[in-house]
Amino acid sequence: MLIATTLAEARALLPVLPRPVGFVPTMGALHAGHLELLHVARKASASTIVSIFVNPLQFGANEDFANYPRDVQGDRSKLERAHVDALFLPNATEIYPDDFTTYVDAGAIGSTFEGVVRPRHFRGVATVVTKLLHIVQPDILFLGQKDAQQACVLRKMIVDLNMPLDVELVPTIREDDGLAMSSRNAYLSAEQRAAAPSLYRALLALREALEHGASKAEAAEIARATLSESATPDYFDVVDAATFEPIEQLVREAFVIGAARFGRTRLIDNLHIVPGRVETSVA
Ligand code: AMP
Repeated sequence: MLIATTLAEARALLPVLPRPVGFVPTMGALHAGHLELLHVARKASASTIVSIFVNPLQFGANEDFANYPRDVQGDRSKLERAHVDALFLPNATEIYPDDFTTYVDAGAIGSTFEGVVRPRHFRGVATVVTKLLHIVQPDILFLGQKDAQQACVLRKMIVDLNMPLDVELVPTIREDDGLAMSSRNAYLSAEQRAAAPSLYRALLALREALEHGASKAEAAEIARATLSESATPDYFDVVDAATFEPIEQLVREAFVIGAARFGRTRLIDNLHIVPGRVETSVA
């Protein structure tokens, strides 16, 4: 596996890697969800590049940037075993030099749901992904359905800014009990970990209620009642898969979305609904 830690080294990869190049940006602490993205990327591309960068710009002042799990050595071995061709490990001072002043506004999609709770989060995501795309210049960008709103923000950005690449959404990988894999699951205490799969069950209950004719308000109430009593719900809703605007019924491609706090840890999850097709998430 080739490793680039500077922009110059990353640029030197471009002529070496056969096209189409598939790119999987991550923040590291890699788990089976990330590995699924690599697996899909390898099948669809002639070569694959992964980046690991805990992007300070997408964390709020009171969020977990300092404590975010980091395990570069472990990640490197996982990537070697997954036969990734190149790893880009930029450092924050080169990505954001002191005189850095230009940001990408994440637009309307970036200001709802996660964008309400985390006001500058998607600006940080859109800015760093724009920079990474300019550096790596991939042909296909692989994103996880787990972060559906992030994927919608980035898809729209890529269209709006005429970026010359395709985007592929990869279904969510779950633990056996349904909990969506996430680097942040490591923060959960034993009790919180036991309660956390109720977020997924709440989304399934919401979907089932809608399918049985409940209104969205009734279905969201059922979701809240399904969530563990020890958790605090943030939102449950149904949104159009492309615009992330709330919709009332599952009549077109949509995400059933939810967020809840388990102690100090906030988890998000969603179901991708394609009318006439069953949910594609896998355990
Ligand atoms: P992160 O390292 O959390 O920034 O995630 C990097 C990429 O992996 C993003 O595109 C995520 O949506 C994706 N991802 C994270 N968790 C999962 C999962 N459980 N299943 C599939 N993809 C995931």
